[in-house]
Amino acid sequence: MNNEIESKITDSEWEIMRVVWAQDKVTSKEIIDILEQKKDWKPATTKTFIGRLVKKGILLTETEGKKYIYSTEVSESEMIKGTLYELLDHICDKDIGNTIGSMISNATLSFKDIENLQQILKLKEKDAVAEVPCSCVPGQCKCKDHNCISGH
Ligand SMILES: [Zn+2]
Repeated sequence: MNNEIESKITDSEWEIMRVVWAQDKVTSKEIIDILEQKKDWKPATTKTFIGRLVKKGILLTETEGKKYIYSTEVSESEMIKGTLYELLDHICDKDIGNTIGSMISNATLSFKDIENLQQILKLKEKDAVAEVPCSCVPGQCKCKDHNCISGH
């Protein structure tokens, strides 16, 4: 949906990005040190992932003396949204409610989170439809063959 953001990053690249988002500005040495606690990566491996993110335009570099400082202009929530919307693009519109439902079921939520979700749902009720139409290409979705009776 938001094609402006290069939202296709690998799990390893997410690990790097989480450090950058948490630290704002960071050197490769700092990234290596932080991820050493979690991952079994050699410094060269971490540097490879950093290099890929720079190539994708997600990480920005500036030099400070001999050091390279990394930062990003892509916010964490933008990246998460991009990835989520992309995922929702891969499924039938009729399945989105169920998918969100199972995400909620599997999540650990605070009372505050639940309150927020309830508020969102209350607002959604105002423009809810009797049945979500399937917008899939015929042949890519089962509900076209079954006239949406059996659903999924
Ligand atoms: Zn469909």
